[in-house]
Amino acid sequence: MFKRTKIVATVGPSSWNPSKLKALMLAGADVFRINFSHGERARHAETMATIRAVEENLGRPVAILADLQGPRVRLGRLPGPGIVLKRGDNIQLFAGSDYKTGGPIPVTHARFAGDVHPGARVLIADGEIEARVESIKNGVVGAQVVRGGILKSNKGINLPDCNISIATLTAKDRADLAFAAAAGVDAIAISFVGSAADVRLAKKLLIKAKSDAIVIAKIERATAVANIDGILEAADGVMIARGDLAVEVGYENVPVLQKEIIQKATALARPTIVATQMLDSMTDHPRPTRAEASDVANAIFDHADAVMLSGETAVGEFPVESVRVMTKIIHRVESYFCDRGFNHSEVAGSIAAESAIAAAAVDTAGRLDAKCIVLFTTSGRTARLVSRERPAIPILGFAESERAMRRLSFYWGVAPRCLKTASTMTEHFTDGERALLAAGDVRKGDFVVFLAGLSKVPGATNNLRVHRIGSRLE
Ligand code: PEP
Repeated sequence: MFKRTKIVATVGPSSWNPSKLKALMLAGADVFRINFSHGERARHAETMATIRAVEENLGRPVAILADLQGPRVRLGRLPGPGIVLKRGDNIQLFAGSDYKTGGPIPVTHARFAGDVHPGARVLIADGEIEARVESIKNGVVGAQVVRGGILKSNKGINLPDCNISIATLTAKDRADLAFAAAAGVDAIAISFVGSAADVRLAKKLLIKAKSDAIVIAKIERATAVANIDGILEAADGVMIARGDLAVEVGYENVPVLQKEIIQKATALARPTIVATQMLDSMTDHPRPTRAEASDVANAIFDHADAVMLSGETAVGEFPVESVRVMTKIIHRVESYFCDRGFNHSEVAGSIAAESAIAAAAVDTAGRLDAKCIVLFTTSGRTARLVSRERPAIPILGFAESERAMRRLSFYWGVAPRCLKTASTMTEHFTDGERALLAAGDVRKGDFVVFLAGLSKVPGATNNLRVHRIGSRLE
């Protein structure tokens, strides 16, 4: 059964051995995410090499997404059992790494005292614990606990009311980006993006590292929401990183933002990934909750390109089952759409010739009840433009290189296929037809719609050809 919505699976101790990675791919994973917030580079290098070996063994492309940590502020090292805080307690925080009994609580941001102000919220451990700043004196921040809990070492801190004076791409991120680029990753995700300038900087660093990896901007701060139009223009795709986003803007705002961001991104043909806690209970249970099944389904109803698993596949007890459950829900919701027709998205801005021809291909295929839309792509751009139209039939993306094929893993409804670039249009279509027949994608008499251009320049697709399999192609 053809799966249109893509699955991003985070790799970690539960899944980094070859047999688990293979099982995840067979269950429906299209992209493997490596989270640079955890673990050593040597470990990541080993994971990436294992993914490539499994990919070769299966003969199917899979993309690798390197997710950079970003300017994450954390608690320093605390005593083993943690520090119990109750509502109304007065605490002290300072920039440091270690806690001394009776002293202030360490926070890993050197300019912490300078960046906060009285009244600002300090949200700790995904917002489970909340304190409000009351005073700042000699580098020590006094705060009152609003919501208590147990403070534990290294837990993340969000400061949604403050401008944090750490660059979005930290020194660690820049080094990780260079490392990931050299390892040949297909995409980089940037955490805590604030504006288009952050995306442009990441792109510049990738060019310097001689990488054509795409840049996925993680939308998880209020400033990113405010600057979404510019970020979408600059980025190759976005991740709706609902974990931090909920802490920063309030969980009640996340469902509406998810819909709005997907709509805007799809209009610009930018792929979207909906992330975090999609099947959270499956970290230690073999079945999802009803609410989780609905959450995955709703992301598909919202027309996301991809849904993501984090802890479920990285550290959970049921990584393969989690992907299987996602695939099952995707198939069910997509079959509902197939009966009714997928909504075509709005297209933003003026229509370029290549967008018009992509839309015409989908329209033509629908009128002829064609079996598939077949395109020849180098940069993935034509594939994105056809994907944006959300046709019910498969989009088969022929690409010459493994790298170009892997990129298609991010785009809704696009299945990668390998084919050498031809020198004439007729050769393109003849080779394409042969490959389609060999793969069992079509049968004699089926209609297919071909889209192609002869130049390797992105956007050069300007040929639309209706073909009945088996008929002359001259
Ligand atoms: C998130 O906050 O939802 C997210 C995906 O980011 P990370 O898991 O890297 O914190």
